Amino acid sequence: MIPYGRQDISAGDIEAVAKVLRSDYLTTGPEVESFESELTKWTGGASTVAVSSGTAALHAAYYAAGITAGDEIITPPITFIATQSTAALLGAKIIFADVQKDTGNIDPIEVRKKISLRTKAVVAVDYAGHPADLDELRVICDEFGLILIEDSAHSLGSIYKGKYVGSIADITTFSFFPTKNITTGEGGAVTSIHQEILDRARYFSRQGLVREKEKQIIKDEGPWHQEVHNFGLNYRLSDVMAALGASQLKRLNNFKSRRKEIFNFYEQELREIEEINLPTCRNYVDPVWHLFPISVDPVKRRAIFENLRQKGIGVQVNYIPAHWHPVFKGVPARGSLPVAENFYRSEISLPMSAALSDDEIIEVSIKLKEAIHDAK
Ligand SMILES: *Cc1c(COP(=O)(O)O)cnc(C)c1O
Repeated sequence: MIPYGRQDISAGDIEAVAKVLRSDYLTTGPEVESFESELTKWTGGASTVAVSSGTAALHAAYYAAGITAGDEIITPPITFIATQSTAALLGAKIIFADVQKDTGNIDPIEVRKKISLRTKAVVAVDYAGHPADLDELRVICDEFGLILIEDSAHSLGSIYKGKYVGSIADITTFSFFPTKNITTGEGGAVTSIHQEILDRARYFSRQGLVREKEKQIIKDEGPWHQEVHNFGLNYRLSDVMAALGASQLKRLNNFKSRRKEIFNFYEQELREIEEINLPTCRNYVDPVWHLFPISVDPVKRRAIFENLRQKGIGVQVNYIPAHWHPVFKGVPARGSLPVAENFYRSEISLPMSAALSDDEIIEVSIKLKEAIHDAK
C-alpha cells in the first residue's frame, strides 16, 4: 500500500533521539528549548511553545485567547474535528462559515455574515498547506475586535505574501503528527505574535506552574516553591520527541521542495484527465503541500476511491464536513454549507509525502486513470 502520508526519518533523526535517550533528561530538559528556538526560524520570528499534539496546541491557543463559555468562534467545516472540539470543551459555541470552492479554506465573505455580538475569534485552517486569505480575515477581525487564530497543522513552512505562517494571525497552531510536514511522533506547537498570549499558552500547557520568583504571589516560601495562578494541563513535549523535531526541522527545506516537486509531477501526469480537477495554488502563496486533493464526479467518488484502495493506493478523504459529526446534533443542518459539502463529496487525497518516490507517483497516476475509466 502506498500510504496517503508517511514520515521521512533519517539516520540523523535516529541519532538525535538516541543521544537524548543516553542523556540525563527525557523531558523538561534542554531539547525542548532548542526546538522552540529553531521553530521561530519557520514562524517568521514569532515565539513558540512546543506541546504534545496539534490538538493540545489548539486547546492551549483557545485558552490563551480567553475563549470561555458563551463565546462564539467562526470556523470552516473542511477540517479535522480538533479545530472545533478543543474550543467546544472550553464552552464555546461553534459557528460555521462556508469555504472557498477552489482552496477549501474559510471564505472571508461568509465569515462576515456569521459575526454576532458574541463572536470572539475567527479560525482559519490552511487546508492542504495552502494558507487561507489572512489579509481579508485580518480586516474583518480588526473591524469587529476579534482574535484571528490559524490552524496551521498542514502548513508549517508555508508562505503567504512573503511571510511565514505563524507571523500573521494572532495565534497559530501546528501539528507534528507523522503525516504532517515534520514529525515528532505526536507533537504540536503554539505560536503567537503577542508575548502575553504565548505566555498564557505556555503556563496552560505546563500545569499552570509559576516558577519565576518575581511573579510568585507567595513570597519566600523556599527555594523549592512553585505555585499555580490558573489551572493548566500537562501538554509538554518530551525532550526525546523535541530532539526528533529539531532534527526534522533541519530537513524542512528539503521536504518543502520535494513536496513541491511531487505537486508539479502530479499536475503534469494528471493535467489531461478531463474528469478531475487539480488543486489550486493562488499566486500569492508558497505552500508546503501537506495533501494533494483532487476532485472527481461525486457520483463516482466512492467507486474510484474503493478501486484505488483495492489497487494498493492509500487514498484518503479530507474531510467529512465537521458539522456532519453527530456531536453537533444536526445544527447547522446538512445543506446549509453547500460549498464545503460539495467539496467533500467530490474530494480524494492522493498520496503526498516527502518520502514518495517518482515511481510511486507514476503508479498512483496510472491507477487513478484506470479507476476513472472503470467508474465510467
Ligand atoms: C492533524 C490536525 C490537527 C490535530 O493535530 P494532532 O497532532 O493530530 O492532534 C488539527 N487540525 C488539523 C487541520 C489537522 O490536520
